[in-house]
Amino acid sequence: MMKTDIRSYFPILNQEVNGHPLVYLDSAATSQKPTQVLEAVKHYYEYDNSNVHRGVHTLGNRATDAYEGAREKVRQFINAKSTEEVIFTKGTTNGLNMVAASFGRANVDEGDEIVITYMEHHSNLIPWQQLAKEKNATLKYIDMNPDGTLSIDQVKEAITDRTKIVSIAFASNVLGTVNPIKEIAAIAHAHGAVMIVDGAQGVPHFHTDVQDLDCDFLAFSGHKMCGPTGIGVLYGKKEHLENMSPIDFGGEMISTVGLYESTWADLPWKFEGGTPNIAGAIGLGAAIDFLETIGMDAIIEHERNLTRYAIEQLNAIDGVSIYGPQDPTKRSGLVTFNIDGIHPHDVATVLDMEGIAVRAGHHCAQPLMKWLKCTATARASFYLYNTEADVARLIEGLRSAKEYFADVNE
Ligand code: PLP
Repeated sequence: MMKTDIRSYFPILNQEVNGHPLVYLDSAATSQKPTQVLEAVKHYYEYDNSNVHRGVHTLGNRATDAYEGAREKVRQFINAKSTEEVIFTKGTTNGLNMVAASFGRANVDEGDEIVITYMEHHSNLIPWQQLAKEKNATLKYIDMNPDGTLSIDQVKEAITDRTKIVSIAFASNVLGTVNPIKEIAAIAHAHGAVMIVDGAQGVPHFHTDVQDLDCDFLAFSGHKMCGPTGIGVLYGKKEHLENMSPIDFGGEMISTVGLYESTWADLPWKFEGGTPNIAGAIGLGAAIDFLETIGMDAIIEHERNLTRYAIEQLNAIDGVSIYGPQDPTKRSGLVTFNIDGIHPHDVATVLDMEGIAVRAGHHCAQPLMKWLKCTATARASFYLYNTEADVARLIEGLRSAKEYFADVNE
């Protein structure tokens, strides 16, 4: 079990909401930030604030060192070969759109296939839908098992020699399913396709090694891993990035500019046009330091213990359906569910009255909702600062919600 003093690093958790101590169970939407991250951002603005890569003055050099230092932390965290492969972005959505706009436009032609799954977040679906339309390519969905997992046979059936891109979530933000990325990447490569990973729900929770996964691209967001909003990372293999065109043209990303021709900066700056989110990158670096102090293996073990407990307790409530695999070792730290006869928005509203924050809605996964044959669900998502007591409060809150709606519906 995670040390309880972890919570003391998260000042936001120490408050009452609607007269009750806050229980924050919405970390899959965005995580809370520890003091180490808040301090790093504050320190940057108080002492080092300056633009990067330009200054010959001391503050400019400090800002550049801190920004590039954060890139090196990211490189180590995901085990990229070089910082040339680590591009700072606004977040996962931005990173995936960059791959679609640059690599996708240049490499996908009429009749080619782009393979995704029914469990994708809209951010890993709409860019491919748009690219398929633009290129007259085929967007294909890999079938799923009834428990919301993928089997290797289904993957093998979907990927063919016409497949150019396979883009799959590391972990589903609704089902919690953790996908076998390494195995899927090997199948994609055997057919000459690239493997793109939506790491939004994976990188914050598990040890991630891009060389071991052998993925071609990986996008993730800082705000879901204790870092600030507005910063994320796109990892890409150098061999791809070198051949790709930049997306944002302007300052910072050039080498030379003439009246009619320009040349681009080296990797990774070729993809970082304009003044970057310097404070965000520094905050993300501090978040990585924090997560590494605790240890990624300890984090996922803790989340899985909470998930196991939550699933057991939810199964004991009449009328609750849980989506995704029941086995916590096949999942990340979240549980999505519905209660018979109560709309998930009502569930979330009643829980909020008790100071418990959960998510309700389609979770930016409308095709998955259709696959699950529902329009919305409630979701409780856990992170390193949650405790069994938080899960117990959730269960108590759900029992009161059931009673409340039973009375109202009488
Ligand atoms: N992919 C998945 C699986 C997600 O859960 C999310 C956010 O919830 C995203 C992509 C988009 O992340 P962002 O909004 O940080 O770009």
